[in-house]
Amino acid sequence: MTKKPKILLIYTGGTIGMVKDFKTGALKTFNFDELLKQIPEINLLNCKIESISFRTPIDSSNMNIEHWINLAEILENNYKNFDGFVVLHGSDTMAFTASAISFMLENLNKPIIFTGSQLPIGDLRTDAKENLITSIEIASSQENGRSIVSEVCLYFEYKLYRGNRTTKVNSEHFQAFASPNLTPLAESGVHLKFNKQLQKKKETNKPLIVRKNLNRNIVILKIFPGINKNIVESILSIKDLKGVILETYGSGNAPTEEWFLTVLEETLKKNIVIVNVTQCLSGSVIMGHYQTSERMKEMGIIDGKDITTESALAKLMYMLGQDIPKTGFKEIFETSIRGEIS
Ligand code: ASP
Repeated sequence: MTKKPKILLIYTGGTIGMVKDFKTGALKTFNFDELLKQIPEINLLNCKIESISFRTPIDSSNMNIEHWINLAEILENNYKNFDGFVVLHGSDTMAFTASAISFMLENLNKPIIFTGSQLPIGDLRTDAKENLITSIEIASSQENGRSIVSEVCLYFEYKLYRGNRTTKVNSEHFQAFASPNLTPLAESGVHLKFNKQLQKKKETNKPLIVRKNLNRNIVILKIFPGINKNIVESILSIKDLKGVILETYGSGNAPTEEWFLTVLEETLKKNIVIVNVTQCLSGSVIMGHYQTSERMKEMGIIDGKDITTESALAKLMYMLGQDIPKTGFKEIFETSIRGEIS
């Protein structure tokens, strides 16, 4: 008889486990054991489940790098003993955390499925049960004794996405996430259908490496009509700044005014890296396609291609934390290392 897969449920917080504060009506985090009592169905699943919770579960708006490291350490310490992991996380910053964990974990060989919900698990109309139960099913799905999925994913409302391709697109609908530049890795209907071609190939048997050194001196600068020299100069002269995610228009276009391009050039000279990502929900940066991105291309700004802002931020924190020589930095950033770029 084949052994039942072992799954670790990691509760970080989020709406899924929240209850209403009687006095104020606001949703607040709740005790995880109570939460599990709400879904006795998980005992019917064909796997062994153990669980662990953040000491203080959080609304994911409070997520920070210490929490990412804490989560990465939980995964690291339990990696050998489990076949798959389901991370319960608030939806607000789930795309950021899923992206960060995908970069922090090198040689990942097992499924890590992020999920959460728009309504608390105790709510009659909750979306939490389906999200949680199917995430556990995905994490424990095996073929020839090996997990079908072996990367960081996000499951929400019948779809499994690559985690570092996702973005939160709706604060109201159950379908809260989208993966605009990569089709889902699996869809759940009457059957659970995996799109195996899309999944990342399993790494060889190299041991898991967890990179905890992330650079925090990064800023996201969103271009808008009317943005002025004072604002751009002030932001780009922040003390100790090491990296900038420049959110530009369309296929990577920005103003061609001389003051703007000069500030960017001065910033690059200070050894600060700049990545060009698009403000558009889908599609790609194509530097040099319009005249409005030509100079940025010439001066050596990194082409973020079709990476999400969430993923670009996580990748930059990760890469700047690894002491990668400046000469190869641009080329590595522009190459997909965890399936984050098409
Ligand atoms: N504010 C909540 C959080 O991100 C929203 C949610 O869980 O959906 O923790």
